[in-house]
Amino acid sequence: MSSFLDITSPALPYPWQQAQWEKVIGSQQSGRLPHALLFLGPQGVGKQNFAASLVDRMLCHQPETQRLEEQACGKCKSCLLRISGNHPDLKVVERLEKKKNISIDQVREVGEFLAKQAQLDGYRCVVVNGAEEMSESAANALLKVLEEPGDQCLLILISARAGALMPTIKSRCQHLYFHVPSKDVSLRWLSPLVASPEQAQTLLAITGGAPLKALQAQQWAWLGQREVIARQLLSLRLRQIEPLLVAKSLQEVPTDELLLWLHQWALDWVKQGQNLAIDNEDLRPTFGEIISTLQTESIFLFSEEVFANYLLLAQGGNPNILLMMESLIIYWSQLP
Ligand SMILES: [Zn+2]
Repeated sequence: MSSFLDITSPALPYPWQQAQWEKVIGSQQSGRLPHALLFLGPQGVGKQNFAASLVDRMLCHQPETQRLEEQACGKCKSCLLRISGNHPDLKVVERLEKKKNISIDQVREVGEFLAKQAQLDGYRCVVVNGAEEMSESAANALLKVLEEPGDQCLLILISARAGALMPTIKSRCQHLYFHVPSKDVSLRWLSPLVASPEQAQTLLAITGGAPLKALQAQQWAWLGQREVIARQLLSLRLRQIEPLLVAKSLQEVPTDELLLWLHQWALDWVKQGQNLAIDNEDLRPTFGEIISTLQTESIFLFSEEVFANYLLLAQGGNPNILLMMESLIIYWSQLP
């Protein structure tokens, strides 16, 4: 997970976040902004950046409040402090490197922070990034904070795995959803930032359409593995390769990414079988060979199996990855 503190420029909401921005700024302007917001949605759609935009706006000394879409000025003392990562009225809590979770001590600091007056005579903001990573005791401590946060403060919880959050915490926050933007919107944003529109398309295809994740994916070491994995799937169908060996080699790719790929590939196989456009256009030739070894019904069965495993991971389960991949690969090789 990236760190909220890496956002070191004045943040602006992304083009696909205008509705959320108008909603939250509208509440703020009419004095109805709740003291706790929970940002939900998949990874890589810009939740952290949106939180930074809102924090900047809340802390800025000279926001242009006449127009709804105006953001923080980016120049005042408060804005400069936030950008440098040293704002005294902003507390960021996230899992520290090499730690298993967000600890109770980190959350206790939030309580102490909110018990004090704002140093710059304005709002106090708290961002809990990756809120589902709180330990149970940390979550309970945060619950107490949420019950009595005090005046002129805003807590923003960010989570890509709502299922792993305590229901009592969820119920004390107003929820704001961030969805994967439409393909057109994502392509328009991403294309100028990468080598070509074709590359943008491939990157979006392998990241479930999440634009920021797609931008990051350029640097993934395992990106070049897609073709190899697709060929392995084909070899499995043709009984040319040992399933357990493949399962072992697949451990090089992060399992959640891999399952996401496989799920999307299955969708592409169905589409390709009907002569429709597919997301992973560069893999079309290999996909064609794979499809020829499978009944259409089997594609759906495989897709369901992949998705069930993906959910198991997404809901915070801690399955044995090697066993999971072995059983998935054996399932794949035996489908009619
Ligand atoms: Zn400012």
